[in-house]
Amino acid sequence: MADDSAKKNWRPATQLVRGGTNRSNFAETNEGVFMTSGYIYETAEQAQRAFKGEEERFIYSRFSNPTVNMFQDRMKLLEGAESCWATATGMAAVFASLAATVNSGDRLVASKALFGSCDYVCRELLPTFGIETTMVEGTVLDQWRDALSQPTAAVFMETPSNPQMDVIDLPAVAELAHDAGARVVVDNVFATPILQKPLQLGADVVVYSATKHIDGQGRCMGGAVLGTTEFCNDILKPFVRHTGPALSPFNAWVLLKGLETLELRIEAQSNNALELATYLSGLEGVTKVIYPGLASHPQHELAMKQMASGSNLISFELACGDSEDGKEAAFRFQDALELIDISNNLGDTKSLITHPVTTTHQRIEPEERARMGIGESLVRLSVGLEDVDDLKEDIAQALKAV
Ligand SMILES: *Cc1c(COP(=O)(O)O)cnc(C)c1O
Repeated sequence: MADDSAKKNWRPATQLVRGGTNRSNFAETNEGVFMTSGYIYETAEQAQRAFKGEEERFIYSRFSNPTVNMFQDRMKLLEGAESCWATATGMAAVFASLAATVNSGDRLVASKALFGSCDYVCRELLPTFGIETTMVEGTVLDQWRDALSQPTAAVFMETPSNPQMDVIDLPAVAELAHDAGARVVVDNVFATPILQKPLQLGADVVVYSATKHIDGQGRCMGGAVLGTTEFCNDILKPFVRHTGPALSPFNAWVLLKGLETLELRIEAQSNNALELATYLSGLEGVTKVIYPGLASHPQHELAMKQMASGSNLISFELACGDSEDGKEAAFRFQDALELIDISNNLGDTKSLITHPVTTTHQRIEPEERARMGIGESLVRLSVGLEDVDDLKEDIAQALKAV
């Protein structure tokens, strides 16, 4: 097997379809699915050489696998990173990148507005291993400056954040973090590698839940960690090889197929989202629309500097009737939708809506949620590939029903 796509100066759209493709001697058109846990050796001596690291080859699929390698290589080309490790889920990617970076006694500084499980890892799990965690308001540079005035091992953030779409100034935070000695890890799920390239904005490591837009069709879980060869080989590799968050070869193949259409999907879904966000802004019954692509977004200018577009995610608040609270309004609106599905997943070709207060963010204390700006009537919409006029009509009829 020989992959020479990395050596060719193909443009990004070509790399998404062909990058990393590594054909076997059967000359298959499609990427092969190598459903194998192990590999055989010609001789006992070859096995010894492989284990000594004297011969580069596949040893065991917890370490590497041809289909998983193709996915890693395509991701690497897309992100413009030196190296990539694929993981079974996005959370495995987040945990591996942080756990491989911090040691007992180290400090971690993270933004407050995180995906629920990332919040658990930073605020609850890592402190049990002796990591001191400081959480800051991601959009307030002075809070980063304060928190990073002491030596720090790692900085973790999500931008735009879920669900209030806060946009963090990546180059500014990266500079403060590097002065404090920290490795900067960015969860780039909402923007996707198509709309934002954190490594070019000062980050050291980028993590993905490939479950979201990279698959984008609701089929499988996956994750990826991208960074320098030094980080991936010397720091991450021993951690992932021995703790086992390996991606299944079948899921790697599904994700390779997802990458082939990623750019087309993200562009179309983001265009739909911008049109819907504009439409929602003028609707009676909608009291607030949060979308980085709108001039009304508090960090709109920064978002347009860091991201190619506002993404496919919109959050909005609903007006409440006289006798109901925000949650009741949000529930009635969601239940009245006929096309858009109620689901906590995102990045799918199907438009999906969720009520963060009772789903993704129900673990967070009500006062903290209120401070984060996650209101009782807030819903988060992941805009899909449907005709935008059908989406508008569905929202309009559901608002009428409310
Ligand atoms: C979904 C998600 C994760 C976790 O990914 P899984 O694939 O569900 O493990 C992490 N960060 C963000 C921002 C997410 O949306």
